[in-house]
Amino acid sequence: MSRMVLFGPPGAGKGTQGQMLAEHLGIPQIATGDILRAAVKEGSELGRQAKSYMDAGDLVPDGIMVEMIRERLKADDASEGYILDGFPRTVAQAEALDDMLEAIGQTLDAVIHIHVENEVLVERLSGRLLCRDCGATYHTRFSPPAKDRVCDQCGGELYQREDDQEETVRSRLTVFEERTQPLVEYYRRQGIYQKVDGDREPQAVRDAILAALGTD
Ligand code: ADP
Ligand code: ADP
Ligand code: ZN
Repeated sequence: MSRMVLFGPPGAGKGTQGQMLAEHLGIPQIATGDILRAAVKEGSELGRQAKSYMDAGDLVPDGIMVEMIRERLKADDASEGYILDGFPRTVAQAEALDDMLEAIGQTLDAVIHIHVENEVLVERLSGRLLCRDCGATYHTRFSPPAKDRVCDQCGGELYQREDDQEETVRSRLTVFEERTQPLVEYYRRQGIYQKVDGDREPQAVRDAILAALGTD
C-alpha cells in the first residue's frame, strides 16, 4: 500500500496520523499545510501568495496547490509511495492529481477519511500546539508536552496557529463541508474510499487505518 490520501476536516488528526504512519510504513508524509507554513515563514513568493488565504481560513487557489504537489511528487523520496495530508481539498485538485498519476501509469491505493464530529474538532483545534522547529503536534489537554511550551522531541518552542482561533476554525469547517466533502463521492466512485472513526486514542485510530489498508 504505497500511495494514500489522509482525508478529513481540520483537526481530524491527519497530521498526527500521517506522522505515525510515515514512520510505520517508511514513506514520506506530504502535508501541504506544513509546506505552505514553511513558505510563509521563509517569505518566498509562494508564501506571499498563500498567506492571506490561510489567515482567512480559505483555500489557497487550486493552480498554486497543484503545481506545488506536482513538484513535490517528483522528489526521490516519493518514488516508493507517500501519505498525502491535506491534499486534495477540492474536486479540481483530485482531478489534477489523477491526471498527474495517470501520465506516469500510477493510481492512488487508498483514501482514508478520518471522521470526527464538529464539536470535537473545535475542541481539538483550540488546544492545538505546534513545534516551531520540527512541526510536531501537541494538544494542551489531550497530548501535552512534558515541559510547558517546549517540544519533547527537539526542545523547540511550541506555538498556537493563527488560524486555530475559534472564528477562523468555524469558517474552515464550512469550507471543508462546501469544497472538500464532495471528494467523498468522488473517491467512493473510484472504489478506494474508506472511513474510520477518528474519535478515539491516536493509537486506536492508527490501528484502524492500518486495518483498512490491510497492512496491520
Ligand atoms: P489542518 O491541518 O487544520 O487541516 P492544514 O495545515 O492542512 O490545516 O492547512 C492550513 C491551511 O493551508 C488551509 O486552511 C488552507 O488555507 C491551506 N491549504 C493547505 N492545503 C491546501 C490545499 N490542498 N488546497 C488549498 N489550500 C490548502
Ligand atoms: P489535522 O492535521 O487533521 O488538522 P492534527 O493531527 O493536527 O489534525 O490534530 C489536531 C489536534 O488534535 C492536535 O492538537 C492533536 O494533538 C489533537 N489530536 C490528534 N489526534 C487526536 C486523538 N485521536 N485524540 C485526541 N486529540 C487528538
Ligand atoms: Zn520539535
